[in-house]
Amino acid sequence: MIKFLDLQAITAMHGDEYRAAMNRVMESGWFLQGKETERFEADYSRYIGTEHCVAVANGLDALYLLLRGYKEMGVMKDGDEIIVPANTFIATILAITRNHLVPVLVEPTFEHLEIDIDRIEKAITPKTKGVMTVHLYGRLAYNDQLGEICKKHHLKLMEDCAQSHGCRFTILHSSLFTLHSSRTGSLGDAAAHSFYPGKNLGAFGDAGAVTTNDAELAATIRALANYGSQKKYVFQYVGVNSRMSEIDAAVLDVKLKYLDEDNRKRQQLAAYYYEHITNPLITLPKRLPDENNVYHLFPVFCERRDQLQAFLKEHGIETLIHYPVPPHQQECYQEWNARSYPITEKIHRQELSLPMNQALSQAEAEEVVRWLNAFS
Ligand SMILES: *Cc1c(COP(=O)(O)O)cnc(C)c1O
Repeated sequence: MIKFLDLQAITAMHGDEYRAAMNRVMESGWFLQGKETERFEADYSRYIGTEHCVAVANGLDALYLLLRGYKEMGVMKDGDEIIVPANTFIATILAITRNHLVPVLVEPTFEHLEIDIDRIEKAITPKTKGVMTVHLYGRLAYNDQLGEICKKHHLKLMEDCAQSHGCRFTILHSSLFTLHSSRTGSLGDAAAHSFYPGKNLGAFGDAGAVTTNDAELAATIRALANYGSQKKYVFQYVGVNSRMSEIDAAVLDVKLKYLDEDNRKRQQLAAYYYEHITNPLITLPKRLPDENNVYHLFPVFCERRDQLQAFLKEHGIETLIHYPVPPHQQECYQEWNARSYPITEKIHRQELSLPMNQALSQAEAEEVVRWLNAFS
């Protein structure tokens, strides 16, 4: 059977290094807020290209604390609006509503699957305080136009990088004839990252982080994540407990060294998929240059998606759907259930994610393609 994601195989790729890292923490007797977390924060902020990285307990907390930090700083208040893609994972929306902010759902394009930047300006009202772009599936969801819109309207540009570790935005400075390349997580004012085990950079449990160049925001989030305290036993905010374990920080620091190599492996598999999937019943998203896509997932689209999934399963290929039901149709957001977002709904009706990770072999990718092309 070809598994969708074989975390056992992925972990075995550097098993000895993980064991050494975990042993080091175990023997140190220091399990939270120590040297390992400090080192990972420094290494990850260097990798992303920001001055600050605050390690937290998971990706949803990173998103929540990022927005909460802006609220504590007086940049946002209850009832303010945040523009966000309608086709994101529920956590992006949960972080907004849990802060008593209002998500303004904007359709993606079917071609790119990311927020339709041309629709953003029309969604801005006097209450809009920010845009949360989501680099969904590992695809870049940013361009200069988005940066300019946010500047022009004084909006905070925030990124949900839970699926885009290592993805880059590259521009040619025509006056200098130089290529300038920045990673997602450094493109706007602040960004949230998840290190859930299945992500491109995954821990051995839950973990997350916020990256930013804003020192005040970083300090506020650090305090909020530590019961609202900057100084021991002095509580400035009604905070939460959201910490990364030293074991996870140590493991992530090992994995970070291999992230670019792992992403290159994904890109090679993706190239094979793009060049060999020829079934006219299956549509692929627009192919991006490799630097703009780290292929967290490899989505394909099919009108008879459920049949395709069953057919692949019959032939030993495991696939998943990201995601079966969009946020506006969920029970927890009943107030939006009657709304219609046709592009988002089409994506959720037709999407199927193929096996895609650094442990997948070329032979397995060939097998996936063989059965995809055999579907009729
Ligand atoms: C995984 C994910 C999150 C949440 O991260 P957790 O660490 O699981 O809390 C948020 N946004 C997106 C787009 C994700 O894929």
